[in-house]
Amino acid sequence: MATVAAEMQAEGIDIINFSVGEPDFNTPINIIKAAKKAMDDGYTKYTAGSGMIEFRKAICEKLERENGLSYNKEDILVSNGEKQSLSIACQTLFQKGDQVLVFRPYWVSFPEFVRLADAEPIFIDTLSDRNFEPNFNQLISKKTDSIKGVIINSPSNPTGGVWGEGAILELLKIAKQNNWFVISDECYEQLVYDGNFTSVEKINRDNKINAIVITCMSLSKTYSMTGWRIGYSAGPHDIIKGMSKLQGQATSCANSIGQKAGIEALNGDQGYVIKMKKSFKKRRDLIISLLKEIPDVSCATPRGAFYVFPDFSKYINRYGNKKLLKDTFDLSDYILEEAKVITVPGDGFGASGHIRFSYAINSEAIKKGINKLKLAIEKII
Ligand code: PLP
Repeated sequence: MATVAAEMQAEGIDIINFSVGEPDFNTPINIIKAAKKAMDDGYTKYTAGSGMIEFRKAICEKLERENGLSYNKEDILVSNGEKQSLSIACQTLFQKGDQVLVFRPYWVSFPEFVRLADAEPIFIDTLSDRNFEPNFNQLISKKTDSIKGVIINSPSNPTGGVWGEGAILELLKIAKQNNWFVISDECYEQLVYDGNFTSVEKINRDNKINAIVITCMSLSKTYSMTGWRIGYSAGPHDIIKGMSKLQGQATSCANSIGQKAGIEALNGDQGYVIKMKKSFKKRRDLIISLLKEIPDVSCATPRGAFYVFPDFSKYINRYGNKKLLKDTFDLSDYILEEAKVITVPGDGFGASGHIRFSYAINSEAIKKGINKLKLAIEKII
């Protein structure tokens, strides 16, 4: 959808793009300055494979300060974006014949990370009326001896759902009982609008569950640094060492300038993060209130990330511009054609009937876009 948006914009078509997966703010200036200084100071060479010691120290301090987690720098691996952290975590831990639980709706890359490790994703549904927490009855009924791990993503892409501590604790207990590895993708940790974020590993430690948790985090969303490609993982030393070996053969290390900038991001002024979060919260409330005005569309208020995931199933199997809208791929195409509004079909995330809207665009665009969408939806017969 992002490609379609770019092509249409290049043709001069006035579109509203709700498909964006990154903050629309610039990287804060102190971080940019740190990167420029890094280049001037000659930090333009390979770094230690697991990441610069200074950066890994800054990550340990951040994990202690913000997440209440103490780690040694040897338990940290810096990667080229969290996507690489997640992918190599799967390749290190899983192999052919293994199964890995992925919660549905899922971020599209999770099943592929598992398949790239030659393992098989097993999908477990979540409950849209309960912050998209797992359907534990289904999880228990799908348990097999081949399951070796589980991937958690709270706050979630695509739903924005944030799991309560109770659900995380329940999952950790099941993981411990069954010797499953837990990979926790926490890239949206700073974008929780109601209540506080608690890291899965913190809940694990506080409750003495002792499940094996690999926490993956990113600078991408927190500091608007998606293009810098800096993410990291924290976990048991042996696993991090294995991941580091794999990453070392593939990409040597993460980019040196980005790592220096990352030190400033974590240690510098956090005012930007607070401002960004405030403005996302306002936009979330705005888009939810506007979506609620569209007849027959229901939308839970997600507590985090910058996505909403309303249910349009009442418009499936109806007609728009004389075409049958048999799924959300058709519905998103219709919305694009009729309203020039770009959305992401939920079927791509394993969730039929839903559509993902990102509110990483300004409030005026949100108002204009949802207004156009409403007019288009009202024409469906
Ligand atoms: N995890 C989730 C759920 C995401 O939505 C994204 C990016 O969209 C990532 C991980 C990737 O983060 P990074 O840019 O650090 O690779």
